[in-house]
Amino acid sequence: MGKSNSCIICGVSPTVRSHLWPRALSHDLRRGETHLISGRVGDSRLEFLQSGRWRSFLCSSHEGKLRKVDDYGVRFVRRARERQRMDFTVSNPMPALLKKFALSVVWRFDAAERVDGRSSSLGPYEQAIREAIFEDRFIDAPVIFIQPNIVAKGEPMDIAMEPTKARLRGATVWKFDFGSLACVVRISGQAWPAEWEAADAGRSKDVTILVAPPSEITSLPAYRPLLMQMQTFKPRG
Ligand SMILES: [Zn+2]
Repeated sequence: MGKSNSCIICGVSPTVRSHLWPRALSHDLRRGETHLISGRVGDSRLEFLQSGRWRSFLCSSHEGKLRKVDDYGVRFVRRARERQRMDFTVSNPMPALLKKFALSVVWRFDAAERVDGRSSSLGPYEQAIREAIFEDRFIDAPVIFIQPNIVAKGEPMDIAMEPTKARLRGATVWKFDFGSLACVVRISGQAWPAEWEAADAGRSKDVTILVAPPSEITSLPAYRPLLMQMQTFKPRG
């Protein structure tokens, strides 16, 4: 369980550890001083990011291809999640790498589901995403970054949420949260509002981070299932 003996892409053995979130981001979240919630929708088990969740399903060569992607993504996320009151821009000199990063987080969590014997939520998109990440194939998959500005009784709240399929502004998306920052990837071919299309981080060298007005977590239906099954805690130190 939780391990494939040969690479799920090329079949080479052995496989090595793949951290589903880049480890640096798990460390950042653990050191946060605000409340941190971690969870997965639709699953009563909780695997906190503190444990640095990983699975084994790639050979060292394929895992190695993610290293540059992760380094770039981590640097971007660190700049983009600083809390701001209004929309702001973050420089993104290599948009293609950022797009790969967002896709690779979605893909890795999905691959982990499959090696754990659960079904894929990516279905027909899995192959196109895999080829975009590992073979530089083009995929129509805009990526946007949002500060959802979630608060609990007025206090800013950091949330870590694994990639989840959702409906957003009329389109099917995959969304995940790194503390104060959420990443949304649209993999299906539906359209988005123009201002969201314009904020596509996979195309822009200056990415607009969309900052939402504060909203109380208890008023957000999307987080309700998570609230039902999560634990909140204050990391020490
Ligand atoms: Zn491989």
